[in-house]
Amino acid sequence: PSFIIKRLTEEANKPENHKYSPYGGCQEFREAVASFYQKNYQVDLNPDTEVLTLIGSKEGIAHLIHAVINPGDGVLLPDPGYPVYQSAVHLAHGHSVPFPLNETKGYVPDFEKIPVHDLERAKLMLLNYPNNPTGATVELDTFIEAVEFAKNNQLCIAHDAAYDLVTFRGYESPSLLQVPGAKEIGVEFGSLSKSFNMTGWRIGYVVGNKELIRSLTIVKSNTDTSQFLAIQKAGATALTSDFTSVNQNNEIYQKRMEFVLSALQELGMEAERTKGTFFLWAKVPAGYTSQGFAEFVLEKAGVILTPGTAFGQRGEGYIRISLSVPTTRLNEAVDRMKNMKRGGATS
Ligand SMILES: *Cc1c(COP(=O)(O)O)cnc(C)c1O
Repeated sequence: PSFIIKRLTEEANKPENHKYSPYGGCQEFREAVASFYQKNYQVDLNPDTEVLTLIGSKEGIAHLIHAVINPGDGVLLPDPGYPVYQSAVHLAHGHSVPFPLNETKGYVPDFEKIPVHDLERAKLMLLNYPNNPTGATVELDTFIEAVEFAKNNQLCIAHDAAYDLVTFRGYESPSLLQVPGAKEIGVEFGSLSKSFNMTGWRIGYVVGNKELIRSLTIVKSNTDTSQFLAIQKAGATALTSDFTSVNQNNEIYQKRMEFVLSALQELGMEAERTKGTFFLWAKVPAGYTSQGFAEFVLEKAGVILTPGTAFGQRGEGYIRISLSVPTTRLNEAVDRMKNMKRGGATS
C-alpha cells in the first residue's frame, strides 16, 4: 500500500535511521504492535518486555525453537502444517511429534487424543489459525482448550497468526492472548507479510510470555541485529492504520476464492469455502495421490498446485491452491485445467 511505501521512503532518507536498531526492535514498532493488540483484541502488552521485532515471523519461529528446546526434546506440530516448523525442529536437533488435524474435526486438534508418551517428551506445541494450508479458522474456545491443555501437560504454546487479518465473510480471528492466563505459557507470532503485502520486507513480531521472548532475544542478539529502522517505522505505520488496505485486499481474495470454487465445481473437484487465508484446500480426484495429481496438472496444464503431502502425511488426498495471483491469471490456470480434462493439447 502506497501510504506504507511513503513512510519507508521518508525514513530511508533520514541519516539517523542508517544505524543498528536496538536488538529487540525500535520503540515505535513495538509500541505499534502493543496498540494493535489493544485495539484489535483488547489485550494489554508491555512493549518493552512482551513484544519483540522479528525479521519476518518465519525467522522468529525457527529461532524460538532453538531458544526453547534442548537436543532430543519433542515439539508437537500440526499435520498438515507449515513446513518450516518441522525443519526448524530438525535444525535444533529436536524431535518432531506430529498431531493430526482432521477434516471431520474442522482441522482443530483433538487434544485428548494426543498420546501420553508424545506429551511426556514434548516441551512446545505449535498452532496456526487461520490455518495454512487448510484455510481452517477457530473461535476463542479452541484457544481456551489449548491453554488449559498446555498448562496440564507443562507445555509452551507458540501460535502462528500469520493470517490474523486475512479474514472474510464477517469472521474475525481471535488471539491466543485473549485467553486469561495465556501469557503464562504462550507466545503469538504476527507478520506484516500477508495482511499488508509486505512479504519481501521481512517484518513481523512475537508477543506474549516474557521469559520466552527474553530467550528468543538472546538467540537473536547473537545472530542478527533486528530489522532496518526505516522498515520497522513503515511497519508501525501499517499496524496503526485504519486497515482500509487490508479490507480491500480481503475483498479481492474473496472474489478470487468464489471464482476458483465455481471453477473447481466444473472440474468435479471439491473444496471448502474458507473464512480466512488465501488458500483453498481441495480434494484430489479419485484415483490420484496428491503428488500424482500435482505432477499430472503440472505436466498437462503447466499449472502448479501444491501437493498436500508437502505439509505432512495427513495432507495426502489434498492439494493447496493459492489465490495470491490476479483473477486473469487464475482464469488462465482454470482454462488450462478444463482443457486438460477434455484431453485437449497444452502448450
Ligand atoms: C507466510 C507464513 C509465515 C511467514 O511469514 P513471514 O512473516 O513472511 O516470515 C509464517 N507462518 C505461516 C503459516 C505462513 O504461511
